[in-house]
Amino acid sequence: MNRRKFIQNTAITGAGIATGVSAISCKEGESKTSETKKTTITSISKPNYISISTWNTESANTASGELLAKGKSALDAIIDGVAVEEANEENTTVGIGATPDREGNVTLDACVMSPDGDYGAVLAVENIVHVAALARKVMEETPHVIMASKGAEEFAYSQGFKKEKLLTPASEKAWKEWLKTSNYQPAINVENHDTIGMLAMDTSGEIAGVCTTSGLGYKMKGRVGDSPIIGAGLFVDDEVGAAVATGMGEEVLKTVGSFLVVELMRNGMSPQKACEEAIHRIVKKGDRYKDFQVAYIAMNKKGETGSYAIHEGFTMMKYQDGKSENINSDYFNKA
Ligand code: ASP
Repeated sequence: MNRRKFIQNTAITGAGIATGVSAISCKEGESKTSETKKTTITSISKPNYISISTWNTESANTASGELLAKGKSALDAIIDGVAVEEANEENTTVGIGATPDREGNVTLDACVMSPDGDYGAVLAVENIVHVAALARKVMEETPHVIMASKGAEEFAYSQGFKKEKLLTPASEKAWKEWLKTSNYQPAINVENHDTIGMLAMDTSGEIAGVCTTSGLGYKMKGRVGDSPIIGAGLFVDDEVGAAVATGMGEEVLKTVGSFLVVELMRNGMSPQKACEEAIHRIVKKGDRYKDFQVAYIAMNKKGETGSYAIHEGFTMMKYQDGKSENINSDYFNKA
């Protein structure tokens, strides 16, 4: 099963968006994860532009970075950047070739946030490859922020998107293989690329973010995770910074993780500390974290970045002022 095997299913019931984050005033240095050794790099002087993305998504992040270098807006750069992975059939978690739900339907989720605080999202969309661009259309061409399923698909056609079969021969074969056991308890392990979340700051200093995914492999029909939900999978506040999540979406939703990271940065934490604290909100709930992965990446207005995961193996791509690096993220579970 070529899929994000690191995501351990637990009984997935009633994931919701919590509101009223209670401890957003926690100051830097108070993080209870401070015993962990940090390897994630933060920048020293403000870069001219910067693009970061989840996992080993080098081609996509470089595409975004090169557009920023040419003076493109952060919003244009990230939409075109993640399109590289959406079109990559080898990536079984995004766009064409993605792993379907347990009934064989490939359904995609995506969202985007612009520097002026606008937001657009699409949920459970079939037959459209470039759902991040579609989310942007929702943001820019409709009075709404979220469109789901068939309505989103019909809207896509009205905007000139092509109908495409997302289930490739390879993903169909893997699904049929999976059906033999229908085992929905993958062990923690990490692949080289996964759901792509991308944050960018352009040469004018504006920040935008995007997230695009097929969600959990072999999920229940109709299941939607954190990735297209504002504040959970992604949050951008151009005055402060931005954050994006990957991993077990139900846990990110229950802690409104990306909003939490941005609010912690607003209260003075570095992107690194803020990511650590958001992971801590999840792990402190009990031992279940041992069975699933969650990771955040973040950047602030100074161009500083951070990333943190529950388990080893998460990486963040960073393209800054012409240089691309893949950064091994620090993580909580050192046991
Ligand atoms: N967060 C995504 C979801 O739960 C999955 C992932 O990032 O791998 O749908």
